[in-house]
Amino acid sequence: MYNFILLAIKLKVSFLGGAKEVGRSAVLVDTNSESIMMDYGLKIETEPPRFPRLPDTKLSAVILTHAHLDHVGAVPLLFRKGQNCPIYSMEITSPLSRILFFDSIKIAKHENYSLGYSEKDAKAALKNFKSFNYRKPFNIGNSKITAYDAGHIAGSSMILLENQKKLLYTGDFKLEDTRLMKGADTDIEDVDALVIESTYSDRDHPNRSEEERKFIEHIRSTLNNEGVALVASFAISRSQETLLVLDEFEVNYPVYLDGMSANATEILDAYPELQREYNILKKVLQRMNVQFVDNVNMRKKIIKKPCVIICGSGMLSGGPVVGYIKKMFGREDCSLSLTGFQSPGTGGARLLETGKFTDEEVDLTVKMSVKRFNFSSHASRTELLKLCKKISPEKIFCIHGDKTEEFANELKEVHGFDAISPDIQKKYEI
Ligand SMILES: [Zn+2]
Ligand SMILES: [Zn+2]
Repeated sequence: MYNFILLAIKLKVSFLGGAKEVGRSAVLVDTNSESIMMDYGLKIETEPPRFPRLPDTKLSAVILTHAHLDHVGAVPLLFRKGQNCPIYSMEITSPLSRILFFDSIKIAKHENYSLGYSEKDAKAALKNFKSFNYRKPFNIGNSKITAYDAGHIAGSSMILLENQKKLLYTGDFKLEDTRLMKGADTDIEDVDALVIESTYSDRDHPNRSEEERKFIEHIRSTLNNEGVALVASFAISRSQETLLVLDEFEVNYPVYLDGMSANATEILDAYPELQREYNILKKVLQRMNVQFVDNVNMRKKIIKKPCVIICGSGMLSGGPVVGYIKKMFGREDCSLSLTGFQSPGTGGARLLETGKFTDEEVDLTVKMSVKRFNFSSHASRTELLKLCKKISPEKIFCIHGDKTEEFANELKEVHGFDAISPDIQKKYEI
């Protein structure tokens, strides 16, 4: 009889955000004894950003896969709404989340909208962070949790939850090595259900070394013209990846880091064990004599001579990169390299479409050479399919993508998996 009851226990999974969309990821797993929220992010393409739905139960714990806004940005809201539980993540995710929370609050104030949580809520959340390590299982009530390196950014994790059944949530991941990160650790067995990101389910990335070569060509031709090469990069991991590329190709001009890129670099530098090659970031920072920019006077001064400036805000939605564009937009000798995807509606996407940089204050025709490069830290379509086959679970939930339905259908019809693109809020049993 007892055995029968155990067998009847099922995991209930619901998606409070990030279903049939990219942004506001929130995966809620209810066992018979715990409610565990995996990620609780913001959708930042809209203004004000959108939150996931609120859980209708008292949470036992939150587990965070990595410090990107679409995965952690809404955590303080949980505390504002009365939740008070531990937040588990890799240690580095805590200081990185701190930057993201306070930056979101700053942007909301600047743009004059209400974010939905305050500094006090962010501090309450930050107090509750507890750290785990890759492949060191721990328990939340009766559930056993193991984190595996996801290869996406520093500290990114795939989460395996075991409670009668085994559920693996990939968060964002990449199988192939990049210059900064080792590819994901996927030696994980007997998974019943896989919750997989699907950002690039319909396309492969261009050849990485070819992309690096084009990027360096863009930088070099600017520097040869005595211009300033401005690089808009995502602050966490992408900016540092960009530095490693500049070092590899021996770009011998002054290199500066500004804004959130500088802050994130300092944090990543303190975790050498999370880099593909132990401490490679520090070696490169020293070898290239990279300078951190932290004041307006320094900004005015450095753009008078040829140099490379790497700034956060990869989609040009704020921060120092916007200030540089406003100063240099008319200079044909200068360039702007965008190193990632530009979401529709962002300053970066508008600039690529129209050749103009616009925000609420300006409408500028940009004469700098503007080019976009693909240094994605997400799994390509080929990598997504490879992971599904490797893990070979009984059930697959495709989330975190604009084409999740098409991807689930393909997994079902071409590859024979029981796959779905879940609906928001609906509960699924495993
Ligand atoms: Zn991410
Ligand atoms: Zn994401």
